[in-house]
Amino acid sequence: MGEEEKLQKSKGKGKAVMPGDELAVIEAFEAGSNTFVDNGEVRALRVGYAEPDKKQRVISVKPSRGSIGVPKPGDVIIGTVETAQPSIANILIEEINDQYSEASFSGMLQSSGDPRARDRRRVTCKPGDVVRAHVYSVKNSIYHLSVDRPEDGVLYTICSQCGGSVIRVRDSVKCNECGYLEERKLASDFDQYQTSTPQKAQ
Ligand SMILES: [Zn+2]
Repeated sequence: MGEEEKLQKSKGKGKAVMPGDELAVIEAFEAGSNTFVDNGEVRALRVGYAEPDKKQRVISVKPSRGSIGVPKPGDVIIGTVETAQPSIANILIEEINDQYSEASFSGMLQSSGDPRARDRRRVTCKPGDVVRAHVYSVKNSIYHLSVDRPEDGVLYTICSQCGGSVIRVRDSVKCNECGYLEERKLASDFDQYQTSTPQKAQ
């Protein structure tokens, strides 16, 4: 951490934060961009630097813009589902190995994806879902993604019928508003992300 702290001081940036890190209690600061509220605490939604605005009493996270190469096999990505069909989904890659990516790489999540995968179930995500996946191959500049590891899968989603918030029910999500139940491949830490409402203002 020593080297990193020196680097931050030299650049005049705020404290470096990882997704889920506590930034402040809600009594002290409101949740700004790239943050969410969980149990009265404002937490980081993205890798970056905490930016408290003491006048407005709002704390935000400025995403870090490290030098990032192209996704490689084995990399862990976080992205948003752009299109989803029963056997294939396109993912806009927003983070590579916990580094914010501005390059707008597009990944392809396929049902039969990784031939080593134990679970070859259908692609179970919907447009707008935030997912964590890993890159298992790169062919012809197409990034093939897999969500077969327990930690991979949907991190954030809403009811596709009414837009309500949902809770995990085994391998599905159930809407708190209308009760609609639908299948999802959820990340093992889904509940941690789902308890909150991402603030994507700005
Ligand atoms: Zn619903």
